[in-house]
Amino acid sequence: MHLSDIQIQVRDMARDFATQTIRPMAEALDHEERFPRDLYTEMGALGLFGIGVPEDMGGPGFDTVTYALVMEELSRGYASVADQCGLIELISTLLVRHGTEAQRAAYLSDIMQAKTLVAYCITEPEAGTDVSGIRTEAVRDGDGWVLNGGKIWIHNAPVADIAFVLARTDRDAGNRGMSIFIVDLHADGIERGPKEHKMGQRASQVGALNFNDVRLPADALLGTEGRGFHMMMSVLDKGRVGIAALAVGIGQAGLEAALDYAQQRKQFKQQIAEFQGVQWLLADMAKDIEAARLLVHSAASKIDRGENATKACSIAKCFSGDMAVARSADAVQVFGGSGYIRGFEVERLYRDAKITQIYEGTNQIQRMIIARELIKHGAAA
Ligand SMILES: Cc1cc2nc3c(=O)[nH]c(=O)nc-3n(C[C@H](O)[C@H](O)[C@H](O)COP(=O)(O)OP(=O)(O)OC[C@H]3O[C@@H](n4cnc5c(N)ncnc54)[C@H](O)[C@@H]3O)c2cc1C
Repeated sequence: MHLSDIQIQVRDMARDFATQTIRPMAEALDHEERFPRDLYTEMGALGLFGIGVPEDMGGPGFDTVTYALVMEELSRGYASVADQCGLIELISTLLVRHGTEAQRAAYLSDIMQAKTLVAYCITEPEAGTDVSGIRTEAVRDGDGWVLNGGKIWIHNAPVADIAFVLARTDRDAGNRGMSIFIVDLHADGIERGPKEHKMGQRASQVGALNFNDVRLPADALLGTEGRGFHMMMSVLDKGRVGIAALAVGIGQAGLEAALDYAQQRKQFKQQIAEFQGVQWLLADMAKDIEAARLLVHSAASKIDRGENATKACSIAKCFSGDMAVARSADAVQVFGGSGYIRGFEVERLYRDAKITQIYEGTNQIQRMIIARELIKHGAAA
């Protein structure tokens, strides 16, 4: 795909930062399960967050293809760090599209600079894939609201300052009875659960948030009451492109590590890269990574052209997630026993890849969406 000069410039800036700063610290962050707050402050100052925020709202105003390029490069450095970029992009997009001028003025700049850490709260113990099952509820109280309920597996929950919370505001209205609230996580009635210990992407902090009679002012409501489910869905295409690009970055890092190792490691008095069995592993990795990258760029371009991108985004997310899991396993294979040992990058990449098949809609759900779109619009590309 042809990239513009500015897209190449931004990609190369993200690539340099990921190579020089992020990748060298990835193993330690993973091992220690450490949240790199200072790194995020630095990335915010460099303009690596809130990539799609328009210039008149204080952002760089880059398109979705540029966002995907940045996500891939950051993830090539460390997927857990790219995840923070994806979360900030999702929240910024919500604020740009649905926030009032006052809400944007209050939050956008500090979110983009990672001075204010954010969380996006949908999942509950009884409501994972089926979001319509959420029980968290906001009830009107004078001018404002009172929020009660609980969310689980929320990215940034242990450290976030504010949360965008999907809550029921009308028990009888189904998906039209949900709204999104901007909640101050330092307010009374907020209870944070302990940090979860994850298989991969271990620099990201994930945990539970409980809301016990949390009083919210009237201006905590984002957009229109009852439109929360719709607003959440409206940013999913972009979210899926972001995770797909993150998965490509994991695949690319695995290929680079495997190619390097295959040219160093000798068995039977020759480089293992000279064995056809190893060459085919490398070739399969390269072809699937390139295919995934093209799917990501194609889906992102559709969003940028204002076309219906739902099928393209689900295809990109599903293919790239499956690719990252399969091909990072190949990278482990090229390393032999070393690939199974902590401290070798490919061992971490294999663990980091798995979640890309689960969050932002599982890959079963992506297949369901692809089939639904096919039945609705036909098989034409
Ligand atoms: C590390 C991590 C970070 C996360 N971050 C966040 C976050 O920041 N905010 C947030 O709100 N949530 C977050 N989540 C939650 C995540 O979005 C959910 O885990 C995901 O949506 C799946 O829900 P579930 O785990 O309840 O699985 P379930 O919905 O219980 O699904 C279990 C299995 O059943 C399958 N399944 C379910 N329904 C169908 C169907 N109709 N057809 C076919 N198969 C089906 C699924 O694909 C899956 O394989 C995070 C999760 C993790 C692990």
